[in-house]
Amino acid sequence: MPTDIEIARQATLKPITEVAAKAGVPDEALIPYGKYKAKVDRDALPPASAPGKLILVTAINPTPAGEGKTTTSVGLSDALHRIGKKTLLCLREPSLGPCFGVKGGGAGGGKSQVMPMDEINLHFTGDFHAITSAHNLLSAMIDNHIYWGNSLEIDLRRVTWRRVLDMNDRALRQIVGPLGGVSNGFPRETGFDITVASEIMAILCLASDLDDLQKRLGDIIIGYRRDKSPVFCRDIKADPAMTVLLKDAIQPNLVQTLENNPAFLHGGPFANIAHGCNSVIATKTALVMADYVVTEAGFGADLGAEKFMDIKCRMAGLKPDAIVLVATVRSLKMNGGVPKSELTNGENVEAVRAGAVNLKRHIENVKKFGITPTIAINHFYLDTDAEIAVIKEMAEEFGAEAVICKHWADGGAGAEELAHIVAAKADAGAPDFAPLYPDDMPLADKIETVCREIYRAGSVTISSAVRKQLKQWEEMGYGKFPVCMAKTQYSFSTDPTKLGAPEDHEVTIREVRLSAGAGFVVAIAGDIMTMPGLPKVPSAEAIHLDENGQIEGLF
Ligand code: ADP
Ligand code: MG
Repeated sequence: MPTDIEIARQATLKPITEVAAKAGVPDEALIPYGKYKAKVDRDALPPASAPGKLILVTAINPTPAGEGKTTTSVGLSDALHRIGKKTLLCLREPSLGPCFGVKGGGAGGGKSQVMPMDEINLHFTGDFHAITSAHNLLSAMIDNHIYWGNSLEIDLRRVTWRRVLDMNDRALRQIVGPLGGVSNGFPRETGFDITVASEIMAILCLASDLDDLQKRLGDIIIGYRRDKSPVFCRDIKADPAMTVLLKDAIQPNLVQTLENNPAFLHGGPFANIAHGCNSVIATKTALVMADYVVTEAGFGADLGAEKFMDIKCRMAGLKPDAIVLVATVRSLKMNGGVPKSELTNGENVEAVRAGAVNLKRHIENVKKFGITPTIAINHFYLDTDAEIAVIKEMAEEFGAEAVICKHWADGGAGAEELAHIVAAKADAGAPDFAPLYPDDMPLADKIETVCREIYRAGSVTISSAVRKQLKQWEEMGYGKFPVCMAKTQYSFSTDPTKLGAPEDHEVTIREVRLSAGAGFVVAIAGDIMTMPGLPKVPSAEAIHLDENGQIEGLF
């Protein structure tokens, strides 16, 4: 099998104008960024017809390599086109960090990719640049305000707004600056996060339009005074200029799959301290243009699907009509106790059976939102028939239908059976859909509800300091916010080594953060990295231009 970039290079792309025509985007709404990328001007779109059906793709707890949510989303979307359904795919834009680190690109894989994969994985249409700039403009204006006399009386020790960069760079996690003397300002401790962890990324992805975007930017809390009263972005007067920087970034990006079907790639918030879904604007635009919209939420269903429904759907008034849960033989083996290094050591039916407790738990969890998921068994070439049969049998036993999918090897043709089943389920809709908790539940109870219902924690420890903080935010008017859980994606528990379906474990909420502009309270359980590092041998070492000037090493 050729590599992803080799497949991508051999693809025949259609001009973006043709892809737009297929998606129903008229010329006047198309803003081309070169031959194969475009932004879509939502104000120039024809009036909405009946909204399409929303299909969420999520997964069981993954191995570090990822289980193929993006790949399956692409394959399912292409398959829906093949069976004659007008479909739009909505994905996140990948970050440069993982691209040069361990995981590689985020544009799908094999025969299920979005194109042009190199441009998508690198600079794309500049949205991340715009978000980085808007974020750092606010940072610069804060230090500038302090420099010129600090009339807002910001406590230098309590500036919470940091700086961002779209790069895995652990050297910048914690820094002291400005240094170098009086003319540079007042030294204080601060640091950098990766751009996808910026609150602005979350805001861009949850905003309904430019006015809402600017309001949310103004609502950002940048730090506190000595009396602990908050200082807002609008106090710094940065929000209008930040909105200017983001005015193009807010428009969805249109690209195509390997099978020349339209896809929106827009926004890419972290799935830990943010909600991990593509933009509300892209999803809503897609829903008025297509009959079926396929979208992905980051991490496993315990984080991704929960936040998709409790944060994105709640805020945007959306609801999923069907849910696809991706499972792989390798991740079930790992959840069944096989070490990572032995995952490719041949058939192991018993390990798959043992690991199926993880699948069962996710099925039960998704059902708590009123939807029975369809299991997509993302097929890897080493998987055996006996292993696949076990997954099917177990899924059925747990009340869900499982379908084998070979879109990675065969493109949309490999996921047609899944497409038929999912389209029928989406048509039937999800009348019983409901988020996990109501808006007016106290914040601490919301956290506890997710920990008990989804993670199956036996005890949830929220320190008195954290409880006091949550109470204070409720008094300040933030009590209706949903909670955004930040924990490991590898386990239901907060311990990444507790695989399978751990029960009665303890969850400790060691810190909470208020994202007042994005509109959620982040509850941190475990060590969360908002500026990743590079591995000992980063994939950047293999990325280069070949003798023909073509990119090698992206995957
Ligand atoms: P996720 O979105 O869940 O993180 P991706 O779809 O990005 O996962 O897939 C992770 C990696 O696994 C990608 O490099 C992709 O090419 C690869 N991959 C996905 N499905 C398959 C498959 N069926 N066979 C081989 N490789 C696969
Ligand atoms: Mg993905």
